[in-house]
Parts: sequence; structure tokens; C-alpha cells
Amino acid sequence: MAELRVLVAVKRVIDYAVKIRVKPDRTGVVTDGVKHSMNPFCEIAVEEAVRLKEKKLVKEVIAVSCGPAQCQETIRTALAMGADRGIHVEVPPAEAERLGPLQVARVLAKLAEKEKVDLVLLGKQAIDDDCNQTGQMTAGFLDWPQKAKKKKIEVIKPGDLGVDLTSKLSVISVEDPPQRTAGVKVETTEDLVAKLKEIGRI
Ligand code: AMP
Repeated sequence: MAELRVLVAVKRVIDYAVKIRVKPDRTGVVTDGVKHSMNPFCEIAVEEAVRLKEKKLVKEVIAVSCGPAQCQETIRTALAMGADRGIHVEVPPAEAERLGPLQVARVLAKLAEKEKVDLVLLGKQAIDDDCNQTGQMTAGFLDWPQKAKKKKIEVIKPGDLGVDLTSKLSVISVEDPPQRTAGVKVETTEDLVAKLKEIGRI
């Protein structure tokens, strides 16, 4: 009988199909009224956890998300995919904006110990910050090697876990990428080479 327990971290992010817009005050990107979904790489982590359960290698899959109230939608998606239980580490919206890999890794490491899990699965990266750091940092805190019934959501605050979410990072300015200028059509390879030389690309 499988006894392993798995924690899967699922992040709520702006849906991959949404065109991102920078806020007029340049402090971040527009999130109000914008469609959010489970980070696609976290979906892969949940699928893998459920697969391990189907193979009877795992007894329980616990989905965890850190962030504002709406993260419960993301947890529910994980439950619908086959996770057994959800934990919402509730962080108010203003503080959630400052949640980075380091803070989330502290939370995940604490929860992994508290819930006595044997494995933590994460997405390889979150498509909003593209950090690809949380897994490595979580493994570091746990000193673990790193290489992914009753359905209910438990609400806890970082304070309950004794985790301090203070961050030394601050956003100085968020800018749109430079506008691309229109391309030109060339007839021959020679023209192409001449054009590339002209604009200093070769
Ligand atoms: P990142 O290091 O930010 O690219 O995120 C990598 C992975 O860490 C994500 O795919 C999630 O599995 C996990 N993660 C990051 N932030 C959160 C969060 N706020 N809540 C739950 N999981 C998270």
C-alpha cells in the first residue's frame, strides 16, 4: 500500500492567452478584470502527481497556493484534476504583489515539514515572473535533493506557519517592450546582406 504524500504547488497567474498591459503608473501590470488561470507548468505538476497516485505510488496529493482569495479557484482546478486536498496560504492582495520565489519557497518548505510530505512537485517556472527559482529554493530550505476523501480547502496565514514574508526587493519601473518597427522586403540574397550590413546586424 502506497504511503507517500505529495505537495503540489499551484500558482494563479494571468492566463497565457491574455495580452499583458503595463499599468499607467508603471508599478506593475494590469491584473483587474483580467482572466487568470493555473500556471500551465503547475498543471503539468498536478497531472504528474495524479499519475503517481493512479500508479498507487502515492497516497495523498495536496495542492497548495499562496496568494489572495482568488487562489482558491486555482486550488479547485487542482482538486478537479484529482488532488485530494487543498491548502490556501492566504496573503492579502497588497502583500501578494511582493510574493517572490524566496517567500513562497519558505512557505512550501514549512508546509512540506508540517504536512510530512515525501515529495514536493512544482511547475518548472511561473509564466508571470519566469523566475524558475522556487523549486530550487524550496529544496535548499528543506535540504532535499531536487530534480513534481475529502476535498476541502484549508485557509491559513503565513503567520500561522511562522513565515516572515518581508522582501528586500522593490519594483523601480515596469516598461512595455520597445515597439517593433515595420520590416522591409528584399528581392535577393545580395539585397538581404546589404540591408543587414546597412543596419549593422552583420
Ligand atoms: P517561479 O520560481 O516563480 O518560476 O515558480 C516556479 C513554481 O513555483 C510554480 O510553477 C509553482 O509550482 C511554484 N510557485 C511559485 N509561486 C507560487 C505561489 N504563489 N503559490 C503556489 N506555488 C507557487
